[in-house]
Amino acid sequence: MAQQLTSPRISISRVRIPYFSVLGVFVIIVLFSFLWRPLNLGRTTYVPLTPQAETTVLDQHLVLGGTRVDIVDDKAKSQQATESSDIPEDNIDKDELDDIIDDKDNSVQYTIVRGDTLHDVLVRYNVNRNDIYQLTTQYKQLANLRIGQQVSWTTDDDHNLQSFSWTISTNNIRFYERSGNSFVESSETTEGVSQNITVQGEIKSNFVVDARRSGLTSREINIITKALQWRLDFRKLQIGDKFIVLLSREMHGKRSVNSQLLGVRIKNGSKDYYAILADDGKYYDINGGSLSQSFLRYPLVRQSPVSSGFNPRRLNPVTGIVAPHNGVDFAVSRGTSVLSVGDGEVVMAKYSDSAGNYIAIRHGRQYMTQYMHLDKILVKPGQQVKRGDKIALSGNTGRSTGPHLHFELHINNRPVNPLTASLPISEGLTGKSKAAFIANVKDIKSQLSL
Ligand SMILES: [Zn+2]
Repeated sequence: MAQQLTSPRISISRVRIPYFSVLGVFVIIVLFSFLWRPLNLGRTTYVPLTPQAETTVLDQHLVLGGTRVDIVDDKAKSQQATESSDIPEDNIDKDELDDIIDDKDNSVQYTIVRGDTLHDVLVRYNVNRNDIYQLTTQYKQLANLRIGQQVSWTTDDDHNLQSFSWTISTNNIRFYERSGNSFVESSETTEGVSQNITVQGEIKSNFVVDARRSGLTSREINIITKALQWRLDFRKLQIGDKFIVLLSREMHGKRSVNSQLLGVRIKNGSKDYYAILADDGKYYDINGGSLSQSFLRYPLVRQSPVSSGFNPRRLNPVTGIVAPHNGVDFAVSRGTSVLSVGDGEVVMAKYSDSAGNYIAIRHGRQYMTQYMHLDKILVKPGQQVKRGDKIALSGNTGRSTGPHLHFELHINNRPVNPLTASLPISEGLTGKSKAAFIANVKDIKSQLSL
């Protein structure tokens, strides 16, 4: 009996020893792959391709120790000019106004789109998770939100939900107000009444802070800074400059549910800037002219072949690590003219080990473009550039596998595909819609006196 009991034990421990040593070797390999990384910076790994996989593998990347490495076929090297890494070491600071807006977005109006759940929407906007849980478990009907319905909410500075409203239809609105740690529901069934109000203020520190102090919500401030981004540098407003905003608020009893910004006037020194809402939902100047500028789709004189496309979620099949390619690579020979795609300010123009010589340009308040692996930089930080200006000559600097131009477009601080992103079009109003707009401007302008 005793032997029968002990012998299986011995055999188990014999199995365990090699098992742990295999695990140990694996741990060493993993640790080594991390330690090994710094030694290989700047190197590109060439991985031989199997003939049958040639067409697809050409576009692959490997992630080794956190550094993205393009898999390059020697034969196809000329078409495959790309880079092993294109993330510059420098962080380009967020605009200081964006910082303030993002920090305290405590009044949000949101329209439900396909796939939304209330829980996910509120999480995305950083609402306190306990409050979300409390609201959605207390009122199960909030799971029935429909596409196109509007919800709005307010939070305090610590992201605690204060009130929430759900517009089921124009005369059926539910309100949820905070009361201690729970929420109290009430509803409004009377048709809302539109009421125009004006909000005005004066610059004492900066536009965002002073606009908020005057009673405008983050959403309204965002509309204004976006509408006028091409006309006015909000950071250059002076102490004593004034602004006035005309809002149409839909009142249900004493509560305002939907607000629409009809027009804004900002007085910067002796100059006036207006943005007036038209029937198409866009803002124009008082003559019906466009407030936006247009962009070039390519930073090049002529369109060139794309050697590596935009792919934010490129997944490596071996490691399972997502290694984004945040831009588009154009296969152009060294010395090709690189153009700024829009009017803007150069915020970075320097050399980096990964991106080589590179330039970052901020366009208005929402857009930024970056140009990498340049041979020669022709602009300086702080310089103003116009759309189509020659800013550099393309090259093969930094961690690049051949001459090409890596181009990125960021909208609201996120990289997007520059070949497909929707870009502002600068078209003014014409014909009947212009006539209607001009007639309306008179009325709105008279309510925007400072
Ligand atoms: Zn690239």
